[in-house]
Amino acid sequence: MKKFSFKGGIHPHDNKFISENCSIKTILPGDELIFPLSQHIGAPAKPVVSKGEHVLAGQIIACKKAMISANVISSVSGTVKAIDSRLDATGAYVDCIVIANDHQYQTVNEYNSINDYQNYTDEKIRELISQAGIVGLGGAGFPSAVKNTPKDPDSIKYIIINGAECEPYLTSDYRLMLEKSDELIAGIKIQLQLFKNAKAIIAIEDNKPDALNHLKKATINESKIEIAPLQTKYPQGSERVLIKVLTNQVVTSGMLPADVGCIVNNVASVIAIYEAVALNIPLIEKIVTVTGDAINEPNNFKVRIGTKYQTLVDACGGFKVPPKKIISGGPMMGTALFNLDIPVTKTSSALVCLSEDAVSKNTPTPCIHCGRCVNACPIGLVPQLLYHYAKINDQENFIKVHGMDCMECGCCTYSCPAKQNLTQSFKKIKRAINNRKKGANNG
Ligand code: SF4
Ligand code: SF4
Repeated sequence: MKKFSFKGGIHPHDNKFISENCSIKTILPGDELIFPLSQHIGAPAKPVVSKGEHVLAGQIIACKKAMISANVISSVSGTVKAIDSRLDATGAYVDCIVIANDHQYQTVNEYNSINDYQNYTDEKIRELISQAGIVGLGGAGFPSAVKNTPKDPDSIKYIIINGAECEPYLTSDYRLMLEKSDELIAGIKIQLQLFKNAKAIIAIEDNKPDALNHLKKATINESKIEIAPLQTKYPQGSERVLIKVLTNQVVTSGMLPADVGCIVNNVASVIAIYEAVALNIPLIEKIVTVTGDAINEPNNFKVRIGTKYQTLVDACGGFKVPPKKIISGGPMMGTALFNLDIPVTKTSSALVCLSEDAVSKNTPTPCIHCGRCVNACPIGLVPQLLYHYAKINDQENFIKVHGMDCMECGCCTYSCPAKQNLTQSFKKIKRAINNRKKGANNG
């Protein structure tokens, strides 16, 4: 069978063996949960509860306040303890709602009802997705209601379900594909209801043969759902790479997938859409892989959003050896953590606990012009040149050489024998350019 692939990319050791056989296990949060108001791309949500107020699991505690924004939902019942700034996974203090858990887990009335959703209008389906606070759960955090409301729904030809999970160590999507395939397929059918001219493609890397075979069997009678095996290569799961390999169309930084007739959703997002539309269950839980050679018992946990990372580590029996590095997310695109008192958010995917910090051992040396970074870049950029402009903060030339198209995938940094901090510098200059543009737009 044809395996889809792309030019460039890298082959890091995937280390999925550590947690891939761990079935999803539910764990409960501790006494305090933290809900950042911004767990998505777009405007932060606005609190609609006050200190001292009692809330229920499934209740909206912060409302989206712009077109590109998302509701934040309480995952427990309890009392609003504070609305103030707390540390998040990026190391920044951000506005949060803090809830004292009453450990009763009382839900809003309509939670887990059975809906006649096959007869719902498209508007009703989109409204339920919006109310449920669903965002791209693969890490991007783009609000799902906006993604599923393109200007011209009839122009959508492909619904791509991203089951690549190409980041090393991560196994939460893999477990979902094995354990929640009925919900996944039902979620895909809801999307097919919204996009009448589309077919769905579930894209899975070939290092997950069980998931490929399982979903092939489960979709055998589904004429509008195909399975696409992908060659295992990082970053196969990036939205732009997937669209290119599956449809041969190019999406640049200024475009949306819908501009080329595609909607791309991560497997967890599709299951969340099913739960919201079919059962009135908003996004209050997340599957998170806890893995790495420093953790005692690796796991794939189903956790309530707002739960602190420390709770996850405790549920794994703590550390086997003192970790030198803990990463929120995968090692390629995740962020290093210095504190476990921070919450699982909608976009959390993993906690990778490592006994060695390979990166900090590397001291950069001068570029030897080997061109490996150019060969590794999946979208054909020249990282060596981007780095030249990023180092001197030459924003104009960085933009001219298409620096804003950089997906921050880390392939160039990984390939560089001189250990140049390429991706890090691209993130920095891109942030500066975006802030400058925002400042200009705000007058
Ligand atoms: S981080 Fe940017 S420049 Fe480097 S390989 Fe990825 S897309 Fe290319
Ligand atoms: S991989 Fe590193 S050393 Fe080689 S050209 Fe790129 S920046 Fe220079």
